[in-house]
Amino acid sequence: MGIKLIYEPLHKQGEPDITRPAIICDECGREIESAGEGLYMFDGRLEHEDYWLSRPVDIYFVHKNHHGGCWSRFIERMGWEESSVTDNELGDLPGYLSNVLAEPPDSPADRIWREK
Ligand SMILES: [Zn+2]
Repeated sequence: MGIKLIYEPLHKQGEPDITRPAIICDECGREIESAGEGLYMFDGRLEHEDYWLSRPVDIYFVHKNHHGGCWSRFIERMGWEESSVTDNELGDLPGYLSNVLAEPPDSPADRIWREK
């Protein structure tokens, strides 16, 4: 399920409509409403060849167990062992993405900006 967009019509309340990203739990299908409620996961087990050969692998989002047991149910459904699961705090993902997507210091965009 991953990252989706949600359209929220608010004009009846006198506010502008918004479309916002939402992270949806891959186990229960409900939105993970705050970073502290969720984890992001991937299959980093030794037997998952794609990961170890640096091929792109799927990323999953789940509620932590104290929000209904999604983490445990997801691992069981995927056939993973709890001891071999790779998960990280959902709150760490935005900074990680920001670093990955940042323009290099001397990118074409920087050169165009300097030439203005
Ligand atoms: Zn869930």
